[in-house]
Amino acid sequence: MNLVPAKAPVTGRVVSNDCCLKGKSASFVRHLVVDVSGTPLVGNFLVGQSFGVIPPGVDEKGKPHKVRLFSIACPSSGEDGQPHILSTTPKRVIDEFHAQRPVDDPQNHSLFLGVCSNYLCDRRPGDELQITGPAGKRFLLPANPADHDYLFLATGTGIAPYRGMLMELLEGSGEPCPSQMHLVMGSPYRTDLLYDDLFCRLQAEHDNFHYHTAISREPRPGSSRGIYTHQLIDEQIDGFGPLLQSPRTLIYICGLLGMQIDLYRVLARHGLGDGFLRIGEELRETNSCDWTAEQIKRHIRATPRCMVEVY
Ligand SMILES: Cc1cc2nc3c(=O)[nH]c(=O)nc-3n(C[C@H](O)[C@H](O)[C@H](O)COP(=O)(O)OP(=O)(O)OC[C@H]3O[C@@H](n4cnc5c(N)ncnc54)[C@H](O)[C@@H]3O)c2cc1C
Repeated sequence: MNLVPAKAPVTGRVVSNDCCLKGKSASFVRHLVVDVSGTPLVGNFLVGQSFGVIPPGVDEKGKPHKVRLFSIACPSSGEDGQPHILSTTPKRVIDEFHAQRPVDDPQNHSLFLGVCSNYLCDRRPGDELQITGPAGKRFLLPANPADHDYLFLATGTGIAPYRGMLMELLEGSGEPCPSQMHLVMGSPYRTDLLYDDLFCRLQAEHDNFHYHTAISREPRPGSSRGIYTHQLIDEQIDGFGPLLQSPRTLIYICGLLGMQIDLYRVLARHGLGDGFLRIGEELRETNSCDWTAEQIKRHIRATPRCMVEVY
């Protein structure tokens, strides 16, 4: 970890930068490929970790911009098996300004552009980047992947590590991992799905990989509503139940801050939390339907079989 610290970043060079959305969308998300040749990062990162980017320029206080983390989206062997090339999935942060602090002007509704995400999405092949890392030691694949089955849950760019993990498990060197793997990807609209072609192809080629999409803002046939990732698990609990009851299973949750809360409620309601969640005494005697988000944050911890990376 942190072979390259923020106080001494190394230079990477953009190889390619392509849209990775399924269709025309209100968001802008790209697959960015970076060459880190000649740096300590070569061959020294693991899928599930992230790397840092330091955008040029200074912040509103005149200090150099801080490092931002981006999930590694390629296998540990590197993009296309090249250990000096890594990739990630930056999404432009674009919004109207909303006051965040008491000093912010509540009448300000000018365009708000996140510094580093837009910097990365603007980059062209050949451009240089200041890079740090790798970071993260918990959101990793196990040492013996075939000893486990997997439930991967993502919202938005939370899909990034699963691109690399599934490529590693199913298309890495040697035989494909025979474990059961379920990926549940949540997005507002079908056009917001990321790397959809890849996951459809992997599903067609591997009987043990199952790709589920939870589209929240498009009404489903026979309903006026869409569905969120945790609701999909809840609705299809007969299908997911055996996976979640198995002591082999690992759960990975990556994406929007707070997405783990609803899943914890679903697991507890179906009596499937054991092994994945450590429930504090304060909540043990209470009905999981009554748990507030605050109580879950305070009194429930993920066990080593439940990996959570939310931001
Ligand atoms: C482990 C990890 C992995 C990550 N992986 C990825 C990844 O793969 N892809 C990815 O895109 N991101 C990823 N991120 C998030 C990434 O690090 C950045 O936080 C994100 O890209 C935004 O950075 P930025 O510089 O563009 O925005 P910033 O300039 O830092 O702006 C964001 C800040 O502005 C505030 N803000 C947001 N919206 C508004 C608004 N409308 N008005 C006023 N203020 C606002 C927010 O509170 C936030 O503090 C990851 C984060 C972590 C911790």
